[in-house]
Amino acid sequence: MKKNVIEEVFAMDVFNDAVMKERLPKPVYAKLKKTIENDEELDLEIAGAVAHAMKEWALERGATHYTHWFQPMTGITAEKHDSFISPTKDGGVILEFSGKELVKGEPDASSFPSGGIRATFEARGYTAWDCTSPAFLREDAAGVTLCIPTAFCAYTGEALDKKTPLLRSMEAVSKQAVRVLKLFGHDDVTNVSCSVGPEQEYFLVDKEKYLMREDLIFTGRTLFGAMPPKGQELDDHYFGSIKERIAAFMKELNVELWKLGILAKTQHNEVAPAQHEMAPIYSTANIATDHNQLVMETMKKVAKRHGLECLLHEKPFAGVNGSGKHDNWSLVTSTGKNLLDPGKTPHDNIQFLLFLAAVLKAVDENAGLLRMSASNPGNDHRLGANEAPPAIISVFLGEQLQDVVAQLIETGTATSSKQGGKLNIGVNTLPSLKKDATDRNRTSPFAFTGNKFEFRMVASSMSIAGANTVLNTIVAEVLAEMADELEGAEDFNVAVHDLIKKTFAEHQRVIFNGNGYSDEWVEEAARRGLPNLKTMVDAIPELTTEKTITMFEKHHVLSRCELESRAEIHYEAYAKAINIEAKTMIDMASKKYIPAVIKYVTSLADSINSVKAACPAADISVQTEILTKASSLLASAKAALAKLEAVTAEAAGVEEGKEQATFFKDTVFAAMGELRSPIDELEMIVDKAFWPVPSYGDLLFEV
Ligand code: ADP
Ligand code: MG
Repeated sequence: MKKNVIEEVFAMDVFNDAVMKERLPKPVYAKLKKTIENDEELDLEIAGAVAHAMKEWALERGATHYTHWFQPMTGITAEKHDSFISPTKDGGVILEFSGKELVKGEPDASSFPSGGIRATFEARGYTAWDCTSPAFLREDAAGVTLCIPTAFCAYTGEALDKKTPLLRSMEAVSKQAVRVLKLFGHDDVTNVSCSVGPEQEYFLVDKEKYLMREDLIFTGRTLFGAMPPKGQELDDHYFGSIKERIAAFMKELNVELWKLGILAKTQHNEVAPAQHEMAPIYSTANIATDHNQLVMETMKKVAKRHGLECLLHEKPFAGVNGSGKHDNWSLVTSTGKNLLDPGKTPHDNIQFLLFLAAVLKAVDENAGLLRMSASNPGNDHRLGANEAPPAIISVFLGEQLQDVVAQLIETGTATSSKQGGKLNIGVNTLPSLKKDATDRNRTSPFAFTGNKFEFRMVASSMSIAGANTVLNTIVAEVLAEMADELEGAEDFNVAVHDLIKKTFAEHQRVIFNGNGYSDEWVEEAARRGLPNLKTMVDAIPELTTEKTITMFEKHHVLSRCELESRAEIHYEAYAKAINIEAKTMIDMASKKYIPAVIKYVTSLADSINSVKAACPAADISVQTEILTKASSLLASAKAALAKLEAVTAEAAGVEEGKEQATFFKDTVFAAMGELRSPIDELEMIVDKAFWPVPSYGDLLFEV
């Protein structure tokens, strides 16, 4: 029988468990497997054998190079390629790859942000093999390369990347969850892994049109652009049938992802025109993070093959929805049990209620930090802007759990769980469906969705490592506190019951099941004392509060020095992003928009003069009116341009770090808005033939 395409290609480019089992000597495979599954220390003795098998496999598949693939603080991945080549005495070559080369690399890479951890004069940086994420092959114009997922750290051992703290946080939450599970008698659980399924939103636009817009090229978003007559108000794109060209893109994207062993599962059109979404089936947080980076890279690569450009920016277009990443998160034991699965009757599932209470408390006590973990400059355009969850963190539990929690708080015991029942569609020929016990809430930033939490604030272009590192660490902290308390209890059953009740009662302020997009919620949240950190710059200090530092050091996730350096990196990244946007606006306004408008008003003036000359009695009021209006907007644009130039220059002189980022946020960003406004207004009155760049309509509807 002919194989289905999925069966044919799935994981063909991955050095996965099946390949290792087949190719590694039995004892080597057994040792490696133990390390991967039980977080045990890697036995370096086996590295040589693994490297050999990896090389043979890669060479058979045409690889010429290998690379340590890592995730520096830029949020994208990095690699330095080495060929397998090694000279022989007789002038030939052999192809080599040693255990040492597998385990450790020294890419130098001193130009990546380190927030001061790494001065270039002491610039050693190492990459270390992460055997928990499988190696894979990648093919591009340069040939086939064996990619080895690695962690990236400084000579002094400090993490310089996104993977290291994530791995540390996974160990932390595992350790504390295992402690708690022991109390429930689950001695068989050796570790608890964090599973993550990230849903990725993105835009596709025509590549030729893209190339005509410097703002898209340099900043990933449009910095100018008037709204077209039609936006997303009809909701006719959402889940709409997929256009041919997009369908061809999706088909190829799926195949490329499947080859990499990525469980690409669902795809559909999103709310905004030209916006789409892809969701994989969840996997371990570390692999999910690596895969999400590959998803983003592959989307960009495949788009180009179809004459398209993939935009991953959080807000490519003003006035239509932007993109995010829903980070679905849960904890699963080594025995295969999802700790966030409530079962049919959550009210008597004490273990579930304890883990639920732990997550609730963790989120309430660290709301600002969680908000920070989802921050990048692009996401500031979304959070709180009626399309994405607000910048206020709250938790949606749904009717069923909300009711259980209320029973617990009010009476001290929960005795029932509301059930979903049957769905009545009112047509006999349609099947009768079972309803979920709870409806959905799309406006909540942190929603319980059946057997996992969905953190919906995460920015579309950023790595999901940071958000999951924070989630794991804050939950580890609460589980540690709970274990401390319960391990000392005289009567476990009474103590755990009291603890659940107390935790829900103390943290119920963070539960909100209403409309998160409404203005009333903003007021209500303020009354409840929930933080509302509107911008990334407001959120960065959350990384370096004493509370955060103590917690992250306690669980060995990040040290004070690593946290402080990360805060610096974020300030710098913010300032750089806004600086590039401001400079791009200055460039486009001076070289494109203003000259185009001058040409247009000149042509209008010429027309007025010729009409007058030809027929002194003709009515030229329309031309005159447009000329007057356009000239006045042109003058406003020029004035705003001068101001933006001045403040951008001033920003360069402000002390780097928090102060500079704040200046960019308060002053430069505001001046950018002042320049955009007259230009967008001009776009509405200037003859399209004169307009120098493709419009929103061209970009959003002509794909
Ligand atoms: P929803 O309809 O709630 O969005 P889906 O079933 O479409 O749920 O899943 C959305 C994402 O959540 C997918 O990536 C899915 O694999 C992931 N997911 C499902 N269960 C879990 C879980 N237990 N832990 C983490 N992610 C999960
Ligand atoms: Mg979802």
